[in-house]
Amino acid sequence: MINKEDLKHNIKIIKKIADENGRNDNHKGLQIIAVVKGNGYGLGLVEYSRFLIDNGINFLAVATTEEALRLRKSGITTKILMLSCTSIEKEVQELVENNIIISLGSKEDVDIANSVAKKLNKKIEAHIKIDSGFGRYGFCYNEKEKMVQALMSLQNINISGTFSHFSLAFYEKDKYSKQQFDRFIDCVEVLKENNIETGILHICNSSAFLKYKEMRLNAVRVGSAFLGRLAIPNIYGLKKIGYLKSNVSEIKYLGKGYNIGYSNSYTTKEETKIALIPCGYADGFNVIVDRDMFRKRDRLRYIVRDIKDYFKNKNLYVEINGEKCKVLGRIGMFHVSCDITGKNIKVKDEAIFNVSPMYVDSSIRREYR
Ligand SMILES: *Cc1c(COP(=O)(O)O)cnc(C)c1O
Repeated sequence: MINKEDLKHNIKIIKKIADENGRNDNHKGLQIIAVVKGNGYGLGLVEYSRFLIDNGINFLAVATTEEALRLRKSGITTKILMLSCTSIEKEVQELVENNIIISLGSKEDVDIANSVAKKLNKKIEAHIKIDSGFGRYGFCYNEKEKMVQALMSLQNINISGTFSHFSLAFYEKDKYSKQQFDRFIDCVEVLKENNIETGILHICNSSAFLKYKEMRLNAVRVGSAFLGRLAIPNIYGLKKIGYLKSNVSEIKYLGKGYNIGYSNSYTTKEETKIALIPCGYADGFNVIVDRDMFRKRDRLRYIVRDIKDYFKNKNLYVEINGEKCKVLGRIGMFHVSCDITGKNIKVKDEAIFNVSPMYVDSSIRREYR
């Protein structure tokens, strides 16, 4: 379930924050690139993209060729940037034929793009991707000569942007992000010295955009902030978007000492009224997210918590008719049992799970209301 008013509220807040430094840069506003990868962060790729466009977003980004093509097939004509680089010719050709902005991050990418441009007799639009210390796509920041060499040979390719990606933007300490930022800027300067067009510059994802005003450059790539599900404390008034809804399918009474769930993970302590809900981990319930795995002690804490959860589902609740109901026993792939002793709950009542839409199986219907 996706609440349209809440989503509009978040879009408004993000635009307002982006406008804060809109006037610094030659009176050109800060461009928001909305990232809609991963089935639109679980909000439904096409429907979510349409919603963003209807609310003033005019630039989207995706992580796979499939997503890019699905958007075009559904009739979306806005600018789309493919964030991942590829030197698979068939994919590059499909992207170019559908007017998707491709990313160039290696000599091979440039060679393939050149040959596709020639084959289709079409000008290609691309962004240069720089790997500033993440070990994924992009020209390595410490191999500037190689980068320049590759980009000197562009034929019929128009560079409209240059970008990089942070690996640790959500971390409270900013040392590594600053280092990545400096590496990125150094690369941009080298490109400029060599008369290679760089277009708009962008490096910030949601966390960096919100935290580091000085790193926003010409554009920011915002994903999770639209959902109000940040890896940093939400001090921006963003609302949490999306929840999973099911219904109570059965109600039963179990006597004292009755086992519930796989591995007999729970035993009733007294007569217990339970509700069965056809929703489990295959649907996305109890997928833990947003962990800070960088401190040893946190890592340990999470492992311990996982083990505890595994046996007891200790702190898991389902909300039925607005009432918090404790999950009993281990969650099944498609089912949970929860304690409704003493509660006036009936079959078909609404059961709400607070999970990130990102982890909700894409086969489950998304409803905007
Ligand atoms: C996913 C992604 C983003 C958006 O990240 P959020 O933290 O969700 O805002 C931005 N840039 C790239 C390259 C990404 O892969």
